Parts: sequence; structure tokens; C-alpha cells
Amino acid sequence: MRCHVCGAQSAYAPEHRHVKVGLCETHIKHYMDSLERSDALRGLDPDESGVVEPI
Ligand SMILES: [Zn+2]
Repeated sequence: MRCHVCGAQSAYAPEHRHVKVGLCETHIKHYMDSLERSDALRGLDPDESGVVEPI
């Protein structure tokens, strides 16, 4: 799987809203940061949080 942002080989495939997307080491950090920010804004919702699984 490839990072959907930059096309590099992805190290992670987080599942967000039941859709898996490839993300490299760099972009997984951006992804997690954005999740934390959005969770902080609307409150934690188990259905909205991503699950990150190593490939
Ligand atoms: Zn990337």
C-alpha cells in the first residue's frame, strides 16, 4: 500500500470511518495530530476515532 498523500511506501493503514488509507511515517503523524485536534474540538466519539494498525 502507498501513502495516499505523497505516494511513498506506507507504513500504516489507519482505518477511519471504516475506510483504510495508506500513510507513510511522515503523514501518519499529521493524521494522528489532526485526529487529536478534531477530537478535542467535538469531544471523543468512538465511532469517529481512527484505529491504526501496523501493516
Ligand atoms: Zn506520505
